[in-house]
Amino acid sequence: MTRFQFNIHARDGKARTGTIQMQRGEIRTPAFMPVGTAATVKAMKPETVRSIGADIILGNTYHLMLRPGAERVARLGGLHKFMNWDRPILTDSGGYQVMSLSELRKITEEGVTFASHIDGSRHNLTPERSMEIQRLLGSDIVMAFDECPRADQGKDVIERSMLMSMRWARRSREGFDSGEEHAARSALFGIQQGGLNEDLRSISAGKLQEIGFDGYAIGGLAVGEGQEAMFATLDFAPTQLPDDKPRYLMGVGKPDDLVGAVERGVDMFDCVLPSRSGRNGQAFTWSGPLNIRNAKHAEDTGPIDEHCTCSVCATYSRAYLHHLQKAGEILGAMLMTEHNLAFYQQLMAGMRAAIAEGRFADFAARFRARYFAR
Ligand SMILES: [Zn+2]
Repeated sequence: MTRFQFNIHARDGKARTGTIQMQRGEIRTPAFMPVGTAATVKAMKPETVRSIGADIILGNTYHLMLRPGAERVARLGGLHKFMNWDRPILTDSGGYQVMSLSELRKITEEGVTFASHIDGSRHNLTPERSMEIQRLLGSDIVMAFDECPRADQGKDVIERSMLMSMRWARRSREGFDSGEEHAARSALFGIQQGGLNEDLRSISAGKLQEIGFDGYAIGGLAVGEGQEAMFATLDFAPTQLPDDKPRYLMGVGKPDDLVGAVERGVDMFDCVLPSRSGRNGQAFTWSGPLNIRNAKHAEDTGPIDEHCTCSVCATYSRAYLHHLQKAGEILGAMLMTEHNLAFYQQLMAGMRAAIAEGRFADFAARFRARYFAR
């Protein structure tokens, strides 16, 4: 069986559409991966996540290592069985979330020691341990362990951090390969760093390609630099990476971020935005985002988006969703999350079709005209 095979079926400008074949299923690209932080895409049953068109979801190493613990998940048959998701899962390395969530961090060449944000217990995370955890979880796409510095730091800090991440990338490769049985049926992605700097990004891309990975992520963006700076970096970062391997922009983003990144040659995304903002009452539509808690929706019998094909829009009114949100009902979070994730999948499907038919520029222009019309 195919371990990992990326085929590009069509190109339009820098944009590409294709498929990744893996043992647990096919991933259509450009792909958006719903985030299943703690072995659940919050407020969604796995069968619904699949039914709206998601081919792959993301799990968080940091959260799962702390609770319920990677060894426990392994004893229970792995993450897929544990959470009832039989398709591909990508796990992050834990590096980014250690930096953003944990307390009392100490970063050395060896790795990171930190205190859990849940109970203060002490933990170590190294490239080797991150690979072991992702193996115990049974991840299909394993991410190299890296450090993600804040974007507002000086070039020397970004460079030192990037060079350490590249040394960690080599240790990640060796750690991944040492788990032979798991390595034979899963894939390993490296992560490009270097902030907003073209030279540092180029050095990082070169070092990653010397090591060799199945796919390449663009890390260190969407950390507060703003869309303009992110797009300026994406004007060069994706094309520094191998053309024939998937490129994954981590932690992005808003619908207009996704369109702009696909336009610049990105193939994969993940972000908590559609699910998190859904729980908070924000719905994404082809006409831009809306807040369902707004009083103007209180007696609106129409759907969230009349062009959305999801089951929520086919069944429930803005008025009802407004009521559920105002009343703090759990169903409100469930339905809003489902619509948002379905909308994201429809956006990706629309981009894939437009690339395949050679009309991506037109698709992007029409998307922006409607999305920013108000
Ligand atoms: Zn909908």
